[in-house]
Amino acid sequence: MEEFLFNQIQMVDLQKQYQRLSVEIDAEIKSCMQSAHFIQGQKVRDFEIALGQYLNSQHTISCGNGTDALMLACIALGLQRGDKVIVPAFTYIACVEVLYLLGMQVVFCDVDENTFMPQLEHILEVYTPECKAVIIVHLYGQGAEIEPIMKWALQNNIYVIEDNAQAIGAQCRIDNQWKYTGTIGHIGTTSFFPSKNLGAFGDGGALFTQYNLWAKSLRMLANHGQSEKYIHDIVGVNSRLDTIQAAILDVKLKYLDEFTRKRQSVANQYDDFLSQIDTLKTPFRNDNSTHVFHQYTIRLEQEKTRNDLQIFLKNKNIPSVVYYPMPIYKQRPYYQAISLPHTERLCAQVLSLPIHTELNEQEISYICESIKLFFDAKS
Ligand SMILES: *Cc1c(COP(=O)(O)O)cnc(C)c1O
Repeated sequence: MEEFLFNQIQMVDLQKQYQRLSVEIDAEIKSCMQSAHFIQGQKVRDFEIALGQYLNSQHTISCGNGTDALMLACIALGLQRGDKVIVPAFTYIACVEVLYLLGMQVVFCDVDENTFMPQLEHILEVYTPECKAVIIVHLYGQGAEIEPIMKWALQNNIYVIEDNAQAIGAQCRIDNQWKYTGTIGHIGTTSFFPSKNLGAFGDGGALFTQYNLWAKSLRMLANHGQSEKYIHDIVGVNSRLDTIQAAILDVKLKYLDEFTRKRQSVANQYDDFLSQIDTLKTPFRNDNSTHVFHQYTIRLEQEKTRNDLQIFLKNKNIPSVVYYPMPIYKQRPYYQAISLPHTERLCAQVLSLPIHTELNEQEISYICESIKLFFDAKS
């Protein structure tokens, strides 16, 4: 196995993916430029409809990015300053940022160490009657254990916002039916950041809801609170999807299932090889949800081993990333003097390996062989 046989392995290879789709995408971009229609418009509507059909979502509303989508969801649900919202401590920063900006109180909950996500028990550990909503993040591309959470939330009048930025195309089993993540809670959100499973060539986001009431207010909120042009019914923001991004996303949506199968196949190949190594844990697969492998995240018992492995791989030109190195409550602006043991352990144990639609078998075995070499040298 010689390193010079390969191009540099990427965490996500957007260049190669573009090369494969460039004829179709270039034509779409050109047509947008010729029409000189750049914000919203028919292309954006077409994409919303196509995505809604794909996910089987009653309403799909595009917006500027995934963080805005979370903010718009909180506003549409009528969450107020001072309301408490439960969020996982082990996740990306976006949902916490939004809650702070809206003046809400963040209640962090711990997560399950296998799924990396909260289960109902972790939510109940921190729940008080002042909690008005829960944000469920389908982390790394796997559906959360959402059925018991939904049942409890509906019984207790608690809103569930699903952050589906990492899991578009994943499904959860609920009432013995498979439903797409993002369409199960009161409002779902997603991001079309370029490296996401369905990525644009810039920022973009969307919201999903099965309720007419919120669909209507979300659409207004994202576009200056307008019900029609220059009629402003509510206080809104400017958070719209560009026409060119919608045109690109509409092309890529047709390939989403293929992209997902490719990622799953990479994950299966990693599983086959890496499950032979006792000192690392391959990602847990949940029977109640599917996994679209936004990330392939392994766990090493010792933080030092994790860090040493990362350096070892880097010296072999293999990138890897720690998502996420710090519990959010230890980040300076969001500091809380709490300690959630599973979250803290995971921050010290996780390592995400390259996974994307262009990774080939040679590269996968080079990565796996290199990891094996690391552990062979240690023992
Ligand atoms: C990427 C991401 C976001 C933010 O999306 P942007 O479009 O970058 O604003 C929010 N939540 C999660 C879990 C994400 O991975």
